[in-house]
Amino acid sequence: MTRVAFIGLGNMGSGMAANQAKAGREVVAFDLSADAMARAKEQGMSPAASAADAVKDANVVITMLPAGQHVRDVYLEAILPNAPKDALLVDCSTIDVDSARTVARDASMQGFRTADAPVSGGTAAATGGTLTFMVGCREQDFAEVEEALKPMAKAIIRAGDSGTGQAAKICNNMLLGISMIATSEAFALAEALGVDAQKFFDISSKASGQCWSMTSYCPWPGPVPAAPSNRDYEGGFASAMMLKDLKLAQDAADTVGTPTPLGGAAEALYGELVRGGYANRDFSIILQMLRGTLQLNRE
Ligand code: NAD
Repeated sequence: MTRVAFIGLGNMGSGMAANQAKAGREVVAFDLSADAMARAKEQGMSPAASAADAVKDANVVITMLPAGQHVRDVYLEAILPNAPKDALLVDCSTIDVDSARTVARDASMQGFRTADAPVSGGTAAATGGTLTFMVGCREQDFAEVEEALKPMAKAIIRAGDSGTGQAAKICNNMLLGISMIATSEAFALAEALGVDAQKFFDISSKASGQCWSMTSYCPWPGPVPAAPSNRDYEGGFASAMMLKDLKLAQDAADTVGTPTPLGGAAEALYGELVRGGYANRDFSIILQMLRGTLQLNRE
């Protein structure tokens, strides 16, 4: 039986690890949070005393951690010194491209096979096993990576070698942040010019302005019933997470010297929203900031 060590059982990781267990794999789980560990036990996983303990007999090690520093620390202190050298190491967190390439290089120098495999889809897809994975790994390792990710996935796409999964993820999310702002600006202007929001949706969703932010995740409440705008922007994808991804994109753009003026503007606007007190609300609430209906904390 495949033994999976799963480290990081937060909003995303808990559902993902549970799907590994449901697929009949033996899951040894670790998180710093006692609540997360108790939940893992209820879901049929074996709790480990530490990350080092979790990986020691693993065939596959999956990490789902907040940011680059956490991934670097866990790899350096727990995984590389303790995992069997034939274990496949897959990091699914969204982190900076440099950290992804650094941990992959350090691991491969010790003989491990690695992949960066960040996800698109949010907590509902994590629980439902319908995430999209963007993978950076050697071509010859991809079939094994696919097999490891299958119980959690709707789609698994190899972007290229190490770091390209993260690169694709942050480019995608930069596009999403910009398109959500663009959609919100259009709704706000249409309103100010006297066009009913539903009418604007009916027209633009069938015209050349159509995009995912409008037709699947409309920031204006009403036209898309499942969108967080209908739940007072609760749940969904937090503005703080969007800001994190936009910062990663800007840092990466600086590193390679590619101009991303709209990405920079999107980072500034989400920075204002997050500092203003809306870090935990869904990122489509930016519509309300642009309409001037939010009370922003200016301290
Ligand atoms: P989260 O904060 O809910 O979970 C992270 C977990 O990691 C926490 O439970 C924390 O206790 C644990 N952790 C931190 N340091 C640790 C350590 N040293 N050892 C063991 N456990 C440790 O975050 P999340 O929402 O699950 O997101 C995880 C990653 O997925 C992030 O990189 C995020 O950007 C990305 N992501 C999130 C979403 C989303 O909708 N939440 C969507 C796509 C991608």
